[in-house]
This record gives sequence, C-alpha cells and structure tokens, in this order.
Amino acid sequence: MAKKIKQIAIYGKGGIGKSTTTSNLSAALSEMGLKVMQFGCDPKSDSTNTLRDGKFIPTVLDTLREKSAVKAQEVIFEGFNGIYCVEAGGPAPGVGCAGRGIITAVEIFKQQKVFENLDLDVVIYDVLGDVVCGGFAVPIREGIAEHVFTVSSSDFMSIYASNNLFKGISKYSASGGALLGGVIANSIGSPYSKEIIDDFAEKTKTHIIEYIPRSITVTQSELQGKTTIEAAPASAQADVYRALARKIAAHTDSKTPTPLDIMALREWAAFWADNLLALEQGKIVSPGDRI
Ligand code: ADP
Ligand code: MG
Repeated sequence: MAKKIKQIAIYGKGGIGKSTTTSNLSAALSEMGLKVMQFGCDPKSDSTNTLRDGKFIPTVLDTLREKSAVKAQEVIFEGFNGIYCVEAGGPAPGVGCAGRGIITAVEIFKQQKVFENLDLDVVIYDVLGDVVCGGFAVPIREGIAEHVFTVSSSDFMSIYASNNLFKGISKYSASGGALLGGVIANSIGSPYSKEIIDDFAEKTKTHIIEYIPRSITVTQSELQGKTTIEAAPASAQADVYRALARKIAAHTDSKTPTPLDIMALREWAAFWADNLLALEQGKIVSPGDRI
C-alpha cells in the first residue's frame, strides 16, 4: 500500500509570520528525516525564500504564462536539506484571481502524480489570509490538506483572520473539507499576549499547538536569507521550531472549530480592551479577572 502523505495547510493574516514559521517547520521536519515539500500559496511568492538562500524561484503561473503546458519538474526547486520548494504565484498585478495559482498548481501536480512520484512524507501549503476567495479555500474545501493550522499573534486583526478561517473550515467540514489542527501562536512575548491568544483558542474550542517567541535570531537569520534552523541551529528559537515540528509530525486528530460570530468577537475584544486598561491601572491583578 502506498504510504499516506501528510498534507498540512498553514493560514494566517499577511505579515503574521506564516512563511517564517512554515519554512522553519519544513527545515525541522527535514532534519527528522522526512521528505518535505513546501508549497507557497501567496501571490507574494516568497514563501520558500529562506530555504533557498533568499532567492526567488519561478512560479507555476509565471511559467504557465511563458508556455502552455508545464511539467512539474520545471516548477519544483530543491532547497535546504533536500526540501522541495514550489511557489504557486499570482496573477499579473491588477488582473485575475489571486487564488488561481493554487488551483492551477494543484491540478498540475495531481495529474502528474507528483507527490507519489517524489515519495513525499509531508506537503505544507503556506496560504495567505482569511478564506474570502475560492482559490485560497482550495486546500481546505477540496480536502487537499487534511490538517489546517493558523499562525496568529494576539493582535485583533490577526485573531479576526483566524476566526474567519475557522468559519471557512466549519463551512466545508461536513463535505469532506480539512479540519483544524490548532493555532501556532507567533510573536508571543509582549505582556498578556499569551493570555489573550489562549482565551481566543478556548472560546473557539481549539488549542495552541506551540508558542513561538518573537526573536532577534529570526530577524538575523532572515537577513542572511536563511531559516533559523539553518542559520542558528543551536539557538533556543531553533529548538522551539523543532518542538513544533515534532508535534505536527505526531498530530493526527483535527477538529471543527467553533468560530465566534461578529458580535461575539466584538464583545470578546471589548472585554480584553477593558481588562488591559484595568490591569494597567492596577484595578485587577490577573488578566483573566472580571473588573
Ligand atoms: P507572512 O508569511 O505571514 O506574510 P512572514 O513569515 O514573511 O509573514 O513574516 C513577516 C516578518 O515577520 C518577517 O520579516 C519575519 O522575519 C518576521 N517574523 C515572523 N515571525 C517572527 C518571530 N517569531 N520573531 C521575529 N520576527 C518574526
Ligand atoms: Mg508569506
């Protein structure tokens, strides 16, 4: 019997740290001896940069614009530790659907049986934002990814994007769509950020799979065009990514989250706004206290 390929999608607001986290995760999984493909699904097309010394690769859509048919080998590039790197790409600025690259790339790979032929263990889709456009929902809707994780900080707009993702997952969960593996809490370190993201996870019936601190080592590594796993393998931050990789490698049980409706999300945010103020003024001592 063919082995089961673990397919994971990582979603989150733009700029929240999806590609940084995904690339370090891929690097850490490859260190564990797994064969990994990282599939960038952001029109920015920079998902795999730090796996390839900061270099951009031709995208599936760019390649398709040059010729009518694309062979998978033309759009797969080898990165750090043998990781296969792909960028779906985006439309020419101002025209077309940004999700098209994902749909097209996935179709090409399916037809050419790429995942089976490369004997992959893990495929990670690094996908932009909340699920508003059909193209971005493809890995969830089509059940291409089995497990979805969201990268979120404790900032409201990031939580808002994750909550929208949860709505998308709930919508497709009954028809064979992907389910939620959990939240990767990124850039944790500012006061009360942990409490806020923990509370959001509890309210939406999910959990935090790993807390990733904001770290200068990540910045330094990125400036060298590398993941932290490659540039600073002995650092504490690299060990955090390795811990995340072990958990994701062992993860099997994803669930349907319970997103908050917009009123409930507003009320939730208002509670935290009041509490942060009360904490600062010394009216309460613990961030979860009622005022
Ligand atoms: P996204 O893929 O979600 O758009 P990126 O992964 O490109 O976001 O990250 C945006 C910026 O934030 C990058 O410059 C990256 O180095 C930085 N960043 C992400 N996570 C961390 C972290 N834990 N510590 C320090 N910087 C981070
Ligand atoms: Mg990115």
